[in-house]
Amino acid sequence: MTNTETAYDAACLFCRIAARELPAAIVRETEDFVAFRDISPQAPTHILVIPRRHGFRDAGELALGAPALAAGLLAEGFEVAKLDGLPDHADAAGYRFVLNSGDAAGQTVYHVHLHVLGGDALGTFGSAGHRRSGSAPHGTK
Ligand code: AMP
Ligand code: ZN
Repeated sequence: MTNTETAYDAACLFCRIAARELPAAIVRETEDFVAFRDISPQAPTHILVIPRRHGFRDAGELALGAPALAAGLLAEGFEVAKLDGLPDHADAAGYRFVLNSGDAAGQTVYHVHLHVLGGDALGTFGSAGHRRSGSAPHGTK
């Protein structure tokens, strides 16, 4: 299967958005990717970028299964960050990419998606419990 071939799952929320069966605020579309605004934004700009192709649950599966598409996902994230002026934003220049994997990261949709966040100073990330306890990094004593 090449990058341009699609696999569609009628039970998948993001496949249905990409197919325009469900409404979304789409900001950019290419042959391989669709970018749309997150319905519950965590920052002034919060855009999700998805490959049209279903079948990769998270970034690890995408990187191993379709490395060109994984690289393209990051490039597409940069394009949408530029659309909202994030790299040169007057108040808060820069942006964050997030790729959640699994329950611990709070992943809710198992069609790989890149979160592009910015437009304001972004909060810290990681485990709140870890920050509270100040515990040592995993694997250290
Ligand atoms: P994740 O937690 O990484 O799986 O991210 C899934 C994201 O999808 C969350 O940030 C949700 O707010 C977002 N989301 C869920 N349903 C929709 C929708 N219909 N349109 C846009 N974003 C959505
Ligand atoms: Zn899907």
